[in-house]
Amino acid sequence: MNNPILSAWTSAFEIAPFDKISDTDFAPALDAAMQAHNAEIGAIASNPEAPTFANTVEALEAAGEMMDKVLSVFFTVAGADSNPLREELQREFSPKLAAHFSGISSNKALFQRVADLWARKDELGLTDEQARVLMLSHRGFVRAGAALEGNEDTRMQEIKARLASLGTSFTQNLLADERDWFMELSEDDLQGLPGFVVNSARAAGEEKGAKGPVVTLSRSLIVPFLQFSPRRDLRQKAYRAWTARGANGGETDNREIAAQILQLRQERAKLLGYESFADFKLETEMARTPDRVRDLLMQVWEPAKTRANADAEILTQMMRNDGVNGPLEAWDWRYYAEKRRKAEHDLDEAALKPYLQLDRMIEASFACANRLFGLEFKQLDIPLYHPDCRAWEVTRNGQHIAVFIGDYFARGSKRSGAWCSAMRGQAKFPKVQAPVVINVCNFAKGDPALLSYDDARTLFHEFGHALHQMLSNVTYESISGTSVARDFVELPSQLYEHWLEVPEVLAEFATHAETGAPMPQEMLKKVLKAANFDQGFQTVEYVASALVDLAFHEGAAPDEPMARQAEVLADLGMPAAIGMRHATPHFAHVFAGDGYSAGYYSYMWSEVMDADAFAAFEEAGGAFDSERAKALEENILSTGGSREAEELYLAFRGRLPGVEALLKGRGLIAA
Ligand SMILES: [Zn+2]
Repeated sequence: MNNPILSAWTSAFEIAPFDKISDTDFAPALDAAMQAHNAEIGAIASNPEAPTFANTVEALEAAGEMMDKVLSVFFTVAGADSNPLREELQREFSPKLAAHFSGISSNKALFQRVADLWARKDELGLTDEQARVLMLSHRGFVRAGAALEGNEDTRMQEIKARLASLGTSFTQNLLADERDWFMELSEDDLQGLPGFVVNSARAAGEEKGAKGPVVTLSRSLIVPFLQFSPRRDLRQKAYRAWTARGANGGETDNREIAAQILQLRQERAKLLGYESFADFKLETEMARTPDRVRDLLMQVWEPAKTRANADAEILTQMMRNDGVNGPLEAWDWRYYAEKRRKAEHDLDEAALKPYLQLDRMIEASFACANRLFGLEFKQLDIPLYHPDCRAWEVTRNGQHIAVFIGDYFARGSKRSGAWCSAMRGQAKFPKVQAPVVINVCNFAKGDPALLSYDDARTLFHEFGHALHQMLSNVTYESISGTSVARDFVELPSQLYEHWLEVPEVLAEFATHAETGAPMPQEMLKKVLKAANFDQGFQTVEYVASALVDLAFHEGAAPDEPMARQAEVLADLGMPAAIGMRHATPHFAHVFAGDGYSAGYYSYMWSEVMDADAFAAFEEAGGAFDSERAKALEENILSTGGSREAEELYLAFRGRLPGVEALLKGRGLIAA
């Protein structure tokens, strides 16, 4: 066979031979890999010998090596450097892959072997890690419905298929509503808008074929419009359209779809033996139960609401000074908050930028990893999939740890956002393999390339995920690196952002691109303070959405989700001038798919932990305290999913996280 994806990778560190792979190699490689994987799975399932950990669970771990190679190369280039052929392949692959993996998770003979081992787990003489892998494998099968028989099995398949199609309709309706609405602006209506908003309004107008500039419902245009437009009537009109997405009646209305989705999820959870869908979803998370989620959210809610109500009074007074009577409305908040931000902490982004050079910020992220964990980085010259990519060998005490790849610049072929993925995960079985980890960002190119403060945080964030992969030290790949609960996976990344804020880090690495001078102290203070601005509003709009998501999935599914939403908000005493960050008819996190259903809370859960975990360093003697760094690596960064997240955190911190550090960090209580 001479398909370079499937042939042995003989380059340094066994990196994929990107210079030899062409797009026409992907489809045949995927077909061959799926066939090979099916043969491996078939052999495990039909093995005439009695099941053992080695011939079943370890055999499953070892299976799919070809799949891993094809998928890691394909999804790397499809996300970071796409083209029409790669897009077409992605559309072709995604249903194929869904069917392939669902075929494995519903393979009854395979499940029988795993269930047999599970029933005898205490007699098998397993290590802790092996017992954990067996538990996760068994639980995965059961949660996918592999243990159901007869009518229940049939009904589960129906529910899954129906949920998939309802999720797609929800997304398409939302897109249709977002696409169809726009508001034309006259030249007069542009007054008060900054240049970048005017430019995007003109570009949007051209795209819509309008006569002039327009406001659309895209977050990147409507939010700045609400922040800057002095025209209260236009803000009201735009805000109402924005919050009506998915609830406009007719063909694209999502309210009935949301109700059906909630009913089906509830039925699915019952079939699997759970009290509610929230119980089903949270079983695998660190939070574990709906009560613990609510308890945490409510601890944040009260101080956030108090702050928001106090802020509302200040904003109302500013509105009075403009001669506007009546209550502060949801379309007024962002406008007056922006005026207040300017008055209180005017941070000049243009003056800040020259201090944040991409190359120096990369050095800063490496230097912190060196001081904390002793990692060293040496640039490599190897062929990658795009000339903008760079690679480093990561070592410690001369020993190879990982290869780290950075692909930092925005380009048309890259999807938006920033992410970290392992092109190869760490494992010691069936053979020792060192990780190959990639960070992909969308920073503007320049000479030198300069970052905004948000960009620099993103760089540290993604590098935190990379450390979680690179420092992983477990036996089985299925639990290595970032293979942890969803409400735990953002801990290493959000935690690493804190090192960017350490004054000595910025003093050393935030140097002016032309003069080389360090960032002035005054500017540094402003940067850090501006990050806390309007947190009452932001916390309230987020937590309200998280609590509605939780209420929807607890107990019996509501017949009328909109009425349930109103009830939850009334019970909370939702401030009148703040809307939910995502209301039900356009709450895509919860209804477009299953990813964040009964899980929207997890951003806040992780943030509570990262604030609390960084406080552990500060309490111990500073951001670079070596004992704390050692404990962080030993208990969190190297352990993957080998133990329950809560156990890992307890081992690191000696207690569970409290909300105090988060409330201080967001400026909701006094520091
Ligand atoms: Zn992240």
